[in-house]
Amino acid sequence: MDILVINCGSSSLKYQLLNMDNETFLARGLCERIGIDGRLKHERGTEEFVLDAPMPDHAAAIKIVLEALLSKEHGVISSLSEITAVGHRVVHGGEFFSDSVLIDDAVEKAIEACFDMAPLHNPPNLIGIHACQQNLPGVPQVAVFDTAFHQTMPKKAYLYAISHALYETHKIRRYGFHGTSHKYVSMKAAEELGRPYNEMKIITCHLGNGASVCAVDRGHSVDTSMGFTPIEGLIMGTRTGDIDVAIVTYLMEKENLSAQQVLDLFNKKSGMLGLSGVSSDFRDIFQARQDGNAYADDALEAYYYRVASYIGRYAAAMNGVDVIVFTAGLGENSALLREKVCDYLGYLGVKVNPEKNAQRGKSMDFSADGARVRTMMIPTNEELVIARDTKAIISR
Ligand code: ADP
Repeated sequence: MDILVINCGSSSLKYQLLNMDNETFLARGLCERIGIDGRLKHERGTEEFVLDAPMPDHAAAIKIVLEALLSKEHGVISSLSEITAVGHRVVHGGEFFSDSVLIDDAVEKAIEACFDMAPLHNPPNLIGIHACQQNLPGVPQVAVFDTAFHQTMPKKAYLYAISHALYETHKIRRYGFHGTSHKYVSMKAAEELGRPYNEMKIITCHLGNGASVCAVDRGHSVDTSMGFTPIEGLIMGTRTGDIDVAIVTYLMEKENLSAQQVLDLFNKKSGMLGLSGVSSDFRDIFQARQDGNAYADDALEAYYYRVASYIGRYAAAMNGVDVIVFTAGLGENSALLREKVCDYLGYLGVKVNPEKNAQRGKSMDFSADGARVRTMMIPTNEELVIARDTKAIISR
C-alpha cells in the first residue's frame, strides 16, 4: 500500500511516498517557488534530481510531482492507481479535531473555519487538498493535524486567564503544535526502552526552527509550550517565544509601528536572530560565539535556560519524568545543546554520558549508567505518523 504524504506551504509543497506494507520510504521531494516560477527537487534513494518547471499554482505543482513519481528515469511507480491514499499535514484543527480524519466537505469547512487562527498555514494546506483531489480523483484524502495530539490537554493547561466569554466567542485558548512529532518520538522512546507507553511520563523537546516542549503523561499530551499560535513558549529561530504582551503597545508607541508590524517583528526578526544579531541558524550562532561574539553567547545561554525551565515545569506538572527526548534539527544534531540543557537537570536525576551523547544519526539513549531519568535523542518522522494515520483511517 503506497501512501503519498503532502505538506503544503504558501509557495512550497513537500511530499513523500511511502510503502506502508513495510513502512519504507520510496521517494520524497520539494516544490518551491510555486506561483513565481517553479522548481522541483526530487529524491529517490540516494539519487537527487532537480527540475525547473512552471508551477503557476499548487495543482500544477502536484501534477509535476505525480509525473516525477511516474517517470521512467527517476520514478518509483508505474501507475497512479498504485497511490492508495493521500495524507495531508494540516496545521490547525482548532477544537474540531482530536484525531486524524477522512476529508469530506464538512472537514474542509472546519479547516476553513480555522483560517483566522493560522493564516499562514491553513489556507495553503486546504489548497494542497484541493490540488490532490483534482489530480487524483477518487483517491481518499486524510487530514492529520498538528494540534490534534494536544486536544487531551486539561482545561487548567489550555485556558488563558481571559474572560470565559472571550474564550467562547473567539476560541482563544492554547492549542499547541508539532503534535505529530511529539506523538512519534514519545511512542518511539517507550518502544526503544521496552516499556509500556501508557505507564510512562515523557517530556519531548522538538527543537528545530520552530520549537516546542510537550509533557506526555501515560500516552496523552497534558501540556505543551506553544499556544494559540506557534509563537508562544521557547525562544525559536526567529520567534520570541514567551514575552510580556504589554511590550506590543509599548513598541507600537515608541517605534511608531502598527500591531501587525510588531507581530511580524516578533515572528520573523526576533528569537535567536534578534538576540544574536547574526542568524536564525544555530550553526552560524555557534560559530559566532567561537569567534568571540558576546551576543551569540547571550542568545545561546538564554535558549538553553528557556528549554530547561520548561522541562522543570513539566516534570512538576506530571509529578516526575521517566524520559526526556530531544528531536528535530537542533535536538538531533547538536550534542552541545543537549549537554547544556541537561546541565540544569541534575536535580531531577538526569546524568549524561558524554561519549554516547557525541554519537550522531540514529536514535540513542545518552544517559549515564545509574541516571534516574533517561535522556534520549530520537530523529522525528512526521511523514511516517501521517502515513500511519492515513493507512489506519482508510483501512477502517
Ligand atoms: P524546521 O522547523 O524548519 O523543520 P528543522 O527541524 O529542520 O527545522 O531544524 C532546523 C534548524 O536545526 C536549523 O536552523 C539549525 O539551527 C539546526 N541545525 C541543523 N543541523 C544542525 C547542526 N549540525 N548543528 C546545530 N544545529 C543544527
